[in-house]
Amino acid sequence: MSDNSSSSYTVFTGKRVLLDSASQVGPATIFVDAAGKVARIDASYNPAGAALDAGDKLLMPGIVDGHVHINQPGRTQWEGVVTASHSAAAGGVTTIIDMPLNCIPSTVTVDAYEEKRESFRDGMWVDVGTWGGVVPGNAQDLGGMLDAGARGFKCFLCESGVDEFPPVNEEQLREAMQELKKKNGLIMFHAEMDTGAQVDGESDPTEYNTFLGSRPPTMEVKAIDLVIEMCREFAPHVPCHIVHLSAADALPAIRAAKAEGLPLTVETCFHYLTINAEDVPARSTEYKCCPPIRSKANRDQLWQAVLDGTIDFVVSDHSPCTPDLKLHPCCGGNIPVSAVEGDFVKAWGGIASVGIGLPLLWTEGRSRGLTFQDIVRLICERTAVHSGLRDRKGRIAVGMDADFVVWAPEQENCITADKLHFRNKLTPYQERACVGLVHQTVVRGTTVYDISNQDKFSAEPHGQWLDTPITPRD
Ligand SMILES: [Zn+2]
Repeated sequence: MSDNSSSSYTVFTGKRVLLDSASQVGPATIFVDAAGKVARIDASYNPAGAALDAGDKLLMPGIVDGHVHINQPGRTQWEGVVTASHSAAAGGVTTIIDMPLNCIPSTVTVDAYEEKRESFRDGMWVDVGTWGGVVPGNAQDLGGMLDAGARGFKCFLCESGVDEFPPVNEEQLREAMQELKKKNGLIMFHAEMDTGAQVDGESDPTEYNTFLGSRPPTMEVKAIDLVIEMCREFAPHVPCHIVHLSAADALPAIRAAKAEGLPLTVETCFHYLTINAEDVPARSTEYKCCPPIRSKANRDQLWQAVLDGTIDFVVSDHSPCTPDLKLHPCCGGNIPVSAVEGDFVKAWGGIASVGIGLPLLWTEGRSRGLTFQDIVRLICERTAVHSGLRDRKGRIAVGMDADFVVWAPEQENCITADKLHFRNKLTPYQERACVGLVHQTVVRGTTVYDISNQDKFSAEPHGQWLDTPITPRD
């Protein structure tokens, strides 16, 4: 007989609990200790004395989003840690890993890393960690950043969009990877390289196709060929990762590299799986990102790669900015006189979506055979492993952090403005009809979001900065 009244534990129970991607959905009662760790799991539903009774809703591991641009410090008019972590919490995301660019300074030295950590103090509603960056000349800083807690490193093979984060060439990359080799450090690539493709000056810049034509799949294929070459050169010591894959044309090379046994992983984003280029309206620059959203045929191939495991996991790449930089019609009057309203070519690239990925993925995926187990694998487990958090996050098991999302997979959920908690609300998903609604989000045993409470969010931030040692990824 379990003792739910035991005061030393906070108790969570439900009839439909999914502990990890290898389990079945079934009743469970989870006992969480004062440190926020799972202490015991009983395979029965027992609401007596429970702090949270999920009832018929699905209780599964909290989501780990490994690709978020919080933009703090330095560009907090674009986003900030309070709004980004509120948005995460409202969508069942219990861990976010911040990108090293768009904040100022870029996270490319130990000092910049410490500055970000200080800046985030007292503002985290979910757990937060950060990636460091590889830029020309900072190879000697990488070891120190890893020791300080950076989860790994991101680099660009083409212009990043911000001057403070320049791309690396092959020689600089090799220098960085020599340093990473000493510590088995992970490197991630924005995998686009210049192929000489240009904007067709005759075409209307307010049409999406004009921008799309300037970022062809060959830019990704060329970069991914280089990534695979470098990965092979440093294998097995430097795990390589391709962020935000969009071009299905690169899948054959990725499949071959994986079959060869190279330490290569790949992510794609919710937007590449849920939007077709054919459907992007003129002037709707909230759809612009790099690499771009491509055709429906391309999207179908990405889905196949997600379901067969070629693509390891799915993230948001939440990257907002202010509406004026999007040159968006909604910001009326704030557009520089030199710019055209709705100009896809000149608008800032980046899609805002942290915290709304779960219903998007589920709504689109369920007709393609996506299971709850797939969801846990794609947005909880594998992103946790990738972030070096295998022994804390991504699964519900004894000894792990008690991070949960409680959601109703059958409930209709239209993504209206009042449900968007990030700072700038411009997103392609506004008014999108989905199924799947998050009701509660729990971070290390504390409920940080509850849809039935007037204030929804916990009064205090309970998020922690994640600087625990990296756990092996294989
Ligand atoms: Zn990004």
